[in-house]
Amino acid sequence: MTEPLRCVRCGAPLMKDDVAMTRKMINRGTETFYCLSCLADHFELTEDILREKIKEFRAMGCTLFQ
Ligand SMILES: [Zn+2]
Repeated sequence: MTEPLRCVRCGAPLMKDDVAMTRKMINRGTETFYCLSCLADHFELTEDILREKIKEFRAMGCTLFQ
């Protein structure tokens, strides 16, 4: 059994979208992942904006968000 990925900042368990968004906004090859709330904080955005971006990336067919 593999451990679920956790946010390196707050320890929250991560969903697929959190992982994809970390890759998109930080680095595709990153081994450290953040939850949406910590990503939002880091980039001085809101979680709502990140959720909207996830929808946009998915609609654009970004391979990270399949
Ligand atoms: Zn977090």
